Amino acid sequence: MKNELKHELFHQFPILKELANKHTVLWENTNWQKETTTNLFSMQEVDEAEETLTRFSSYLKVAFPELLESQGFIESTIQDIPLIKKALERKFDVSIPGQFILKCDHALPISGSIKARGGIFEVLRHAERLAIASGKLKKEDNYVVLGTKDFQEFFQQYTIAVGSTGNLGLSIGIMGKKLGFNVVVHMSSDAKEWKKALLREKGATVIEYEADYSVAVEQGRREAEQDPFCHFIDDENSKDLFAGYAVAAKRLKHQFEKTNIKVDETHPLFVYLPCGVGGGPGGVAYGLRELFGEQVHIFFAEPVASPCMTIGLMTGLHDAISVEDIGLDNKTEADGLAVGRASKFVGKVMETYISGCYTVTDEQLFTSLGLTMDSEGIFLEPSAHAGMFGPIQLMKNGQNYLEKHHLTNKMEQATHIVWATGGSMVPKEMREKYLKFSRNSVNLQNE
Ligand SMILES: *Cc1c(COP(=O)(O)O)cnc(C)c1O
Repeated sequence: MKNELKHELFHQFPILKELANKHTVLWENTNWQKETTTNLFSMQEVDEAEETLTRFSSYLKVAFPELLESQGFIESTIQDIPLIKKALERKFDVSIPGQFILKCDHALPISGSIKARGGIFEVLRHAERLAIASGKLKKEDNYVVLGTKDFQEFFQQYTIAVGSTGNLGLSIGIMGKKLGFNVVVHMSSDAKEWKKALLREKGATVIEYEADYSVAVEQGRREAEQDPFCHFIDDENSKDLFAGYAVAAKRLKHQFEKTNIKVDETHPLFVYLPCGVGGGPGGVAYGLRELFGEQVHIFFAEPVASPCMTIGLMTGLHDAISVEDIGLDNKTEADGLAVGRASKFVGKVMETYISGCYTVTDEQLFTSLGLTMDSEGIFLEPSAHAGMFGPIQLMKNGQNYLEKHHLTNKMEQATHIVWATGGSMVPKEMREKYLKFSRNSVNLQNE
């Protein structure tokens, strides 16, 4: 990026300076609209994704016995977390009116993160397209046949490749290998050792890079282009991924109905989503805004070292600006969020959808990690704790937003959803290290 442009941007957007200094900020999206509009994506694609997942349910419950109980559906629960709320209120000296709820994607079956939505969906959709095109499968068939040796051999002819900071690779590797595909995962330097080891154990090829996520994705894309039998799952541009994530919104609406959680004129809904490249939180946000309109207020959470979506949306430059352009190093223990350049596709869709973004320090993430364990006995990986600071940011620095949207006197009836994006696969030793680190007694370097 040219220096004159940088200079002009810092002048035009004073928050950039705060971000460059790694201060935690709450940025309000002034392009937010009551009536969302986009011509880049449609709810029909979400409905189709949901139908595809339903077709696969008979196969999934056989392939993964952990899915027997849910009849082959990959879904997470919602859980009231009053003790965490209390602990955060005390620690950060703030009062948070309303109900505090955890969306437990850290416990999603198969791969233990939000990537079990989009990532697994895109693998399934790709498998279905190949199988149907070859004449081996019809949409009316019982998909349990996909587990047979015949299909395994069929999928063995094909490769799926992906670039990842860890969890996307994990989801795609586990699902792809289960079906019989060759899987190549291009891992950024942030990826944790245990995630790479687990993938290799499942039979995936792991290629490691010294560089960050964008480089891993670019290399993966380039290699895949040269192989007609290879499908590249493009975390920066894929509409299939986005659709898979968006299905969560429809399911959440059902969960609200079942548990009598109201979302209406007097009961606002706030949703806080940790954001990396944008696909996961973007898909969920898209679906929720389509379903709940102006009654849902969505905030994305990013580490102070990696606020790529915040700067992309604020400047309108999307993927034409990176965190390095404002002098940040994109180094964070929140490996799932260590992305320096946001998805242009997601950023463009989100322009009128989300209420804003905020940033968190690694120290805050680990404070929350300890509090969450001590108060409620729940372990979440560092990235997933970014959501916890949404209500705090909103109550401390969001008065302007609350007033503008006539929310101030409705907060007692509000529901806050903290989207817990990952954690149940983290090995025991690693959890203990994280917990010790949260108590400042261990160094995490080289883990
Ligand atoms: C990937 C990931 C996110 C963010 O999803 P993006 O699609 O990269 O924005 C958040 N939390 C965890 C734990 C993740 O793995």
